Amino acid sequence: DTHKETLGFQAEVKQLLHLMIHSLYSNKEIFLRELISNASDACDKLRFEALTDNALYEDDGELKIHVAVDPAARTLTLRDNGIGMSRQEVIDHIGTIAKSGTRAFLEKLSGDQQKDANLIGQFGVGFYSAFIVADRVTLTTRRAGLGAEHGVRWESEGAGEYTLENVEHAARGTEVVLHLREGEDEFLSDWKLRSIITKYSDHIQLPVLLATPKPAEDAGEEGGEAAAPRVVDEQVNKASALWARPRSEVSDDEYKALYKHVAHDFEEPLAWTHNRVEGKYEYTSLLYIPARAPFDLWDRDSRHGVKLYVQRVFIMDDAEHLMPRYLRFVRGVIDSNDLPLNVSRELLQGSKVIDGIRSGSVKKVLGLLEDLAKNEPARYTEFWQSFGRVLKEGPGEDWANREPLARLLRFASTHTDAEEQSVALADYVARMKPGQEKIYYVTADSFAAAKHSPHLEVFRKKGIEVLLLGERVDEWLMSHLTEFEGKPFASVAKGALDLGGVESEAEKAEHKQVEERFEPLVKRVREALGERVKDVRMSSRLTDSPACLVVDEHAMSAHLERLLKEAGQ
Ligand code: ADP
Ligand code: MG
Repeated sequence: DTHKETLGFQAEVKQLLHLMIHSLYSNKEIFLRELISNASDACDKLRFEALTDNALYEDDGELKIHVAVDPAARTLTLRDNGIGMSRQEVIDHIGTIAKSGTRAFLEKLSGDQQKDANLIGQFGVGFYSAFIVADRVTLTTRRAGLGAEHGVRWESEGAGEYTLENVEHAARGTEVVLHLREGEDEFLSDWKLRSIITKYSDHIQLPVLLATPKPAEDAGEEGGEAAAPRVVDEQVNKASALWARPRSEVSDDEYKALYKHVAHDFEEPLAWTHNRVEGKYEYTSLLYIPARAPFDLWDRDSRHGVKLYVQRVFIMDDAEHLMPRYLRFVRGVIDSNDLPLNVSRELLQGSKVIDGIRSGSVKKVLGLLEDLAKNEPARYTEFWQSFGRVLKEGPGEDWANREPLARLLRFASTHTDAEEQSVALADYVARMKPGQEKIYYVTADSFAAAKHSPHLEVFRKKGIEVLLLGERVDEWLMSHLTEFEGKPFASVAKGALDLGGVESEAEKAEHKQVEERFEPLVKRVREALGERVKDVRMSSRLTDSPACLVVDEHAMSAHLERLLKEAGQ
């Protein structure tokens, strides 16, 4: 009994397939990139599992990816000897069920083919791209460690349903056969395949072999028999770890291609930094800043971070111990010479080597950002728009780096009154009034609320710049920033307002006079409000509004109090 069944795709998968076929047509060659990338991931997974169970190699330890065509049958076949899949895994990963990324992917689609094609890898829906060029896809697989009788065949025409059956499959790993659509014969040409593989998959670390027919004359040389044409496997890619090469020997295009692979992103990175570190710990890091925020940047369990390698052997994806949360958008590779090959996630936690690598890598990333800010301000603005909110988590999470982090921050301020966050703290300090000692800021629920805060009245009148903070994270940020270049931060809504340094003697005298004159009124208001307030004071804060609420110097701000209430605390 092969336990054959026909199953329907979920509505979202159907939608996705339709879209793949009809709207990504002008980028159709990307399917090969996606399938090779899956094969490479599968081999990485096998290597990793085999670290603790060597039997999984089944005497076939040379991991590779094989591409072949059959012109008569008009098929293109990709084969890997990676981890393979069990029946349940096929259902879970390839089958009916829309993965978490699918809906998000569909929502992000813009109708612009180039942009949409770029989204595929990022959302983990790459396998389906096979249907751009194929009207039938047959996937046969056997999971490493299971017997040949545990082979599984999945087949679909990319419309509403697919079939699943058990088959005998001696070879470990996965074979994907694409039955090419009418008019897609170019993918039967080894010249064409070679050029696509070189373009997209040169950096893949395993050999990608292309089965190429050799004319009969060639064949004669070895065997002597006047033979029929034969097929020879030729390695198409370089299959070397790019990061292990010296910087001068890696081209920008190669760096970009590797980025697209590790980040599952089709767009080019904004910047990268590649370093071989030799000192207490020996490692190589190649770290990238993406150009745009991934869709899951705000998910607690966002995937695809920095990949960990040990001596060029892939160990794990998304090793969260290698980057702090506030740099979770960083992508890339770290290759250590000091860790054992059988290192586990548990071992990484609290490992001195990892701590050393992390702090070194964080410095590299912050340095890269600082260079970008200094030398390419327009690109830094782009970066800030995508990741500024994440970087603002930094000072709270990484006290040791609060100074370089503070230099990277950008704010909106009363200097321009524009919502765009473009003011660096150094700009603010350079514009401070003679006698001004503090960096003033106001926090609120939104930029508009901050901009119209009554607390700003006197500052506007005196021409003192105030930072306008309207994002949720700002409150958290300001509770961790205490000073910048020796200038303390001060909320305009907290404590007694002391503009001492910027006030003239005449102004001070006038305040004193006003205070005395209104003392009886203040007393009456104090009595009327009683326990409900801590104090009632005359203030020089306001110029147009009659009164405002102020919190104590060391108390929680009103805004933070609201946020905590909302969070149920
Ligand atoms: P992603 O690779 O981003 O997860 P894909 O749609 O490309 O998304 O693949 C979906 C899943 O199918 C993979 O995560 C993997 O679990 C499984 N898969 C695809 N191709 C292979 C393969 N060649 N070998 C083993 N598993 C595979
Ligand atoms: Mg994939």
